[in-house]
Amino acid sequence: MDRTELFARTAFDEAEKADATAAIDSTLWAEFRRSGLAMAAFPERLGGSGLCENERQGALCTVLRMVGGGDLSIGRLFEGHVNAISLVCRYGTEAQMAALAADVANGALCGVWGADDAAGLKIVGAGASTELRGRKILASGAGFVTRPIVTAKAGDDQLMCLLRLAPDHPVDLSGWSAQGMRSTATGAVELSGIRIGEDEVVGVAGDFMRQPYFSGGAWRFCAAHLGAMERLVELFRDHLVSRGRGEDPYQLQRVADCVASARTTRFWVEEAARRFGSGDKDATAIVGFANMTRMVTERSALDIMEAVQRGVGLPSFIRPSPVERICRDLATYLRQPVPDLAMSDAARSWLTSSEPVGDF
Ligand SMILES: Cc1cc2nc3c(=O)[nH]c(=O)nc-3n(C[C@H](O)[C@H](O)[C@H](O)COP(=O)(O)OP(=O)(O)OC[C@H]3O[C@@H](n4cnc5c(N)ncnc54)[C@H](O)[C@@H]3O)c2cc1C
Repeated sequence: MDRTELFARTAFDEAEKADATAAIDSTLWAEFRRSGLAMAAFPERLGGSGLCENERQGALCTVLRMVGGGDLSIGRLFEGHVNAISLVCRYGTEAQMAALAADVANGALCGVWGADDAAGLKIVGAGASTELRGRKILASGAGFVTRPIVTAKAGDDQLMCLLRLAPDHPVDLSGWSAQGMRSTATGAVELSGIRIGEDEVVGVAGDFMRQPYFSGGAWRFCAAHLGAMERLVELFRDHLVSRGRGEDPYQLQRVADCVASARTTRFWVEEAARRFGSGDKDATAIVGFANMTRMVTERSALDIMEAVQRGVGLPSFIRPSPVERICRDLATYLRQPVPDLAMSDAARSWLTSSEPVGDF
């Protein structure tokens, strides 16, 4: 954990430059690898520390929090990297796991590219001429993630393909003019013509969205958000103490609200991680809890950002201020798929159960 903490500290120190240039320096990626984080999600027999295993979800939660508190863009990329490795470890073959571990040990980064344009990514052809047609959009790490898992349609089936892209594979980052998360390099990647064989296909049709792992895994991005929220609250404290404004009763109320929001979120996220790794057979309960965790995390993050911006005032909007950057990153990264549906599904699943609310 010390090495993660050290890396997170370096990432925080470098975040201003990464945001300004919309690029993460290669020396920081070298630091990332040296810290052990690149390999951590693999089982020990493949050179990792088993961070994807059920009993290590609590440790993964701490790591995601720390990295998210360092630089949320790196937190996003790390979450995608871990997600890809855990999908291969859960559904892939031993040979696919070993090949991926060897590539990551040699410097490759992974990601999960699921978002599609209107046409979608398809698997076409047959036998030796089976190939991809189409592209992925909103793909983080476009241009430096060389081992992505992409989802693709084969008829009505959805399959996962583990690709090996050349480092100079063309990408289109022209649309990534987002307010925050600038250095995630989230763009469009044309994939037409890439051959698909049994080495590339991971698992069977439907594995990608299999529950409780698909929706239940949402706790991971909540953990990265939480790291940024905790960092914001600490920066707020630093500001109040250094300006001698901490004794003001209105500011004290904001501090209390922020600490309560951050701590509440932490209880939820850590419990969601624990339940995800518990091996509980009740997929609906795990998904329902993760969906509620998304709702709590989003609400708390919005409350913290408002309180910190009001409590710090104009300096929190002037660059280069870490508060300004983290608020931009967090506001952007909070936008996750179908939040209304996540919330309403969670409400419905409790409504149709007879569980006491305290056991939900
Ligand atoms: C920094 C960053 C990096 C990303 N990297 C990746 C990546 O590597 N791979 C990847 O696959 N994706 C990536 N994404 C995309 C991400 O997974 C989501 O697709 C995206 O963030 C969804 O955001 P949205 O607000 O447009 O979602 P939406 O789901 O469109 O939600 C917007 C609003 O519309 C509502 N809504 C949704 N559907 C309906 C409906 N049918 N009817 C009515 N209302 C509806 C929602 O509840 C919400 O209020 C990334 C996103 C970010 C921000």
